[in-house]
Amino acid sequence: MSDPDDIFAELRVQLEAGDNDHNYPERDSDDHEVEAAPPATKRCCGCKQVLPLDAFARHANRPDGRCTTCLECNREQSRAWRRKNPERAAAHWRAWLAANPERARELARLRKRRERQRRKRLAESSAGAE
Ligand SMILES: [Zn+2]
Repeated sequence: MSDPDDIFAELRVQLEAGDNDHNYPERDSDDHEVEAAPPATKRCCGCKQVLPLDAFARHANRPDGRCTTCLECNREQSRAWRRKNPERAAAHWRAWLAANPERARELARLRKRRERQRRKRLAESSAGAE
């Protein structure tokens, strides 16, 4: 049986030996001074990954101002929802287009341009193959 005092003394020696620079802030653990930045990461409720806050969409009604799932999971969720509710998704989409006519025109323009580029690439690659 060893004396508990001896164990503490030994621990103290080990601590002091391994810790030459005593930089521990003398601070009460109950004292929650908000001087440090809030944690820059959070765990996604979807994929359970710990990701930087930037990977989460902003959400004004949440205490930390971010969604509980990461952008990738959000995308996956809305994709799955659209697959399950195609009519409602289409209705949503139409409502959004009506509410954002400028953005809708821009998207239509982008889509047309992408489509043109795709056709051009296809034409070029088939021309090159012949
Ligand atoms: Zn996720």
